[in-house]
This record gives sequence, structure tokens and C-alpha cells, in this order.
Amino acid sequence: MGNRWTTRYLLRFDDICPTMNWAVWREVEPILLDNGIRPILAVVPDNQDPHLVKGEHDAAFWSNVRAWQARGWTIGLHGYQHKYETKSAGIIGRNPYSEFAGLPEAEQRRKLAAAFGIFRSQGVWADAWVAPAHSFDALTVQLLSEFGLHTISDGYSLLPHLGPQGTLWVPQQGGRFLPVPCGTWTVCMHFNSWTREDIARFRADVTRYRAHIATLPEVVALNAQRPESWHDRLFFQSLRTLRGMRG
Ligand SMILES: [Zn+2]
Repeated sequence: MGNRWTTRYLLRFDDICPTMNWAVWREVEPILLDNGIRPILAVVPDNQDPHLVKGEHDAAFWSNVRAWQARGWTIGLHGYQHKYETKSAGIIGRNPYSEFAGLPEAEQRRKLAAAFGIFRSQGVWADAWVAPAHSFDALTVQLLSEFGLHTISDGYSLLPHLGPQGTLWVPQQGGRFLPVPCGTWTVCMHFNSWTREDIARFRADVTRYRAHIATLPEVVALNAQRPESWHDRLFFQSLRTLRGMRG
């Protein structure tokens, strides 16, 4: 309902991997199901980051991912190994470290080929790109397009918009629900470190904002042909600066 300006929230859960915080997830997943929410789950194809070891290794991990995708949930490609190699903040500029930004083309291509290869071998496809640490560069975007992935969950615009290579940028502005008057807002949930209070707040937020929680395919359909405008650039620069000042 509404037009593309109508307030819509997308829910994104990062750092989905076999050793994620299953104790928290077992509380979160029923909240999503009970409310008919179809979130973005950003899956690490081959996690090598010790910070993402928050629970017992789940041998049935990939069958879970296939089940989520079969349910109509969006699966994001969250890098390759979640291992930071460079000190580049990339296009978004949120964190001065990256698995991709600043690396030569051959190296980025090798990592992406391996990442897509794991998804393919597990019978999962990538609906969107979700860069670890929000850090990637123009080369990454070009390579993603070559691999057939044309949706990026990142950036600070108010609405999704097209960029180079016909890629659709769906903005990801923060980690909390805010009572905003309009626009598409992706709320990123770092559930791996959630406490009981965080779970309770999430449950309350979902109840409060339920009518405005949308899905990635919905906002892609609404904005698939929308070119970048002056206010996209203005929002991007303003929020990039604000986030940078907060550190
Ligand atoms: Zn991550």
C-alpha cells in the first residue's frame, strides 16, 4: 500500500553463520514468524572470523538457510570469510577495515567466485549484497554485477535508487527503529550480542512498527527503475558525515 515515499522498514540480521548466537535466534525467529515478517538474513559463506563464534556449530546450518529462503525470506551474501584485510572504508565510509575495498580486481574476483560457489553448492542464491563492515568499493559493485547480483543493501539515501551497472541500492541507515515520516529504512540487527533486554525491545518494536515493516522484494519492485536524485546524494553525504563524527 501507499507509494514509494510511504515509511517502510526492512529488517536485516547480519553475521548469520553456523556458529551464530542460536540461543538468541531461537527467541527471535518465532517473533518474525508470528508477525509474518520476511527479513533479510546476511549469510557468511565461509566464516573465518572468531568474533562470530557465539554458539555451538550447527551441522544443519545450510538446510536452515534453504528453509529460510523457501519461506520467502531474503538471503544476503555477507562477504566471503568475514576476514578484514585492508584499512579501506570504501564507498560507505563507516568502518576503516574491509574484506574487499582496496583489493585488486583479481583478488576481489577470487573471493566473490568462492563465495558465490559456496552458495551455489548449497542450493542457495544471493538476493542482495551485504558487505562485512559496510566496506566495499566501485570494483566490488562492478564484479557483483558480473556475477549477476544487482541489489545492494547499503548506503544512506532516503529511498532505494539505481547506481552504476544498473545496480539497485537499498539504503541501510542504522541499528534502531526511528519514528520517521517517510522513506525506506533498513534496520540492522546485530543479534549475536543481544541481551534479554534487547530481545524484549525488539519484540516491542516489532509490535509498534508492524504495519510499516516491508520486504526487500516489495521495495525493489517499487523502485526498480528509480534513478539517483539530488536528495539521495544529499542524504548520503549528510548521514555519512554524521556517522563518521559519531565514530
Ligand atoms: Zn558482519
